[in-house]
Amino acid sequence: MNIIALYLSIMNALIKKIKNLEEAALHLEPGLETRKSWHNQVSEITENFLQKLENGKAYNQDSSSINLLKQPFPEEGTLSSKIFDDIVNHVDKPGINPASGGHLGYIPGGGLYASALADYWADITNRYAGVFFADPGAVKIENELIRWMINLVGYPETAWGNLASGGSIANLTAIVAAREAKEITPENIRKAVIYVSKQTHHSVEKAFRIAGLQYAITRTLPLDDNLKIDPVRFEEIIKDDKKKGLTPFLLVSSAGTTDAGIIDPLDSLSDVCTQFAIWHHVDAAYGGFFLLAKSLSSSLKAISKSDSVVLDPHKGLFLPYGLGVVLVKSGRHLKNAFRYEASYMQDAAEVETEISPAEVSPELTKHFRGLRMWLPLRLHGLKPFRSALEEKHRLSIYFYEKIRKISRFVVFGKPELSVVMFRYIPDNHDPNAFNQFLANEMHRDGRIFISTTTINDVYWLRVAVLVFRTHLKTIDLTLQLLAEKVILVENKIFRH
Ligand SMILES: *Cc1c(COP(=O)(O)O)cnc(C)c1O
Repeated sequence: MNIIALYLSIMNALIKKIKNLEEAALHLEPGLETRKSWHNQVSEITENFLQKLENGKAYNQDSSSINLLKQPFPEEGTLSSKIFDDIVNHVDKPGINPASGGHLGYIPGGGLYASALADYWADITNRYAGVFFADPGAVKIENELIRWMINLVGYPETAWGNLASGGSIANLTAIVAAREAKEITPENIRKAVIYVSKQTHHSVEKAFRIAGLQYAITRTLPLDDNLKIDPVRFEEIIKDDKKKGLTPFLLVSSAGTTDAGIIDPLDSLSDVCTQFAIWHHVDAAYGGFFLLAKSLSSSLKAISKSDSVVLDPHKGLFLPYGLGVVLVKSGRHLKNAFRYEASYMQDAAEVETEISPAEVSPELTKHFRGLRMWLPLRLHGLKPFRSALEEKHRLSIYFYEKIRKISRFVVFGKPELSVVMFRYIPDNHDPNAFNQFLANEMHRDGRIFISTTTINDVYWLRVAVLVFRTHLKTIDLTLQLLAEKVILVENKIFRH
């Protein structure tokens, strides 16, 4: 065989092999009929899910069937509807139902339908939202959302931000920006001081460790009786630290603590920070979007004086999980902290009329998550969001007023946003243990999910109203269940 014939036969064999592989791989591109069939099944299942929400459970303690999800992945795919049934039965049923209006635990959100459609769309088209060059439209949508939020919190035009996957990553992003802006280095880090409070969300401490700031000094500031940072004490502590030759550089305050929904005195804290050139980061992951509610915007207005802020659209804008936002007042600090250069990105550098998300965040390739926020804001308009947030606040006030009228129930305080902490004080029984029983009974029932917390050794039950599907009748049911379960727990204790 001459060399050309040999080459041709090798190529023919290669082509034959490729064609065989292509045929097997074509399974990844289902045809129109298959797409329709899958789509219809998912559509039917999710419709069924939505229609059952109102009378279904918010919490299901029984997770005994999840082991059925442990199955080998088959070599050959099947079109069996069992695959869908598995998700319905073993994923959508056990645990907390975050889409339920009865989810009053932790900080809920709900999950807007329009966002789900946006995700679907973004996934089908798979637009590349990391770099302006790759998808100018997708990046423009994300940047317009950032500009809208910059305006909402009252930052100047020099501000910039990023749509991250959640509040934790958004907090991390802000903290890294602060570290770079304040030039914290291995040489000076052991004299650098960070201030937090006992009510600071744990994602912040995690972020310190990830950002290498565990070698700095972290001070937990004293709180007043309302669990707020005391600005006067804060100033004294800073002065004390300065006297010791230390460098205070960062304060993390909260606009809506996760436990109690408390807003720190942002205005005076910002003044103290300005005086001592300390970066003031406000964690408003829970509370930030209450800026949209007329009656609450004034209590959050001072966010505008901070250096950076985090807001969670997957809480306060009711989006499905997967979107938290960081905004930094001097946007250049974000760019400085996350800039990059790579030769394979040289095409991108030439058409920069908009900042690319990849330039201001740890991510490069990322989900086009802007669409899930942009589409609902366009389809619904802002008004229903304003109303829903106002409604959630007033529902929490309503709960607060009602629960404290029920004999032996006490409340921590009037809700500033939409969290109420309360507990039952039984006759002749340890209140902490009693309330634990009470929480257990609520969980066993499952129609309403409430969560609990411990502050200064006191065990509290808490209701956090933030699912857009939570309405007056949900709160009335909660009050009714609590009253019923108290009697149940009392009877159980009495019997023993
Ligand atoms: C929820 C929350 C976080 C964490 O955000 P994730 O979106 O859960 O990562 C941080 N801070 C506060 C105050 C929160 O409520």
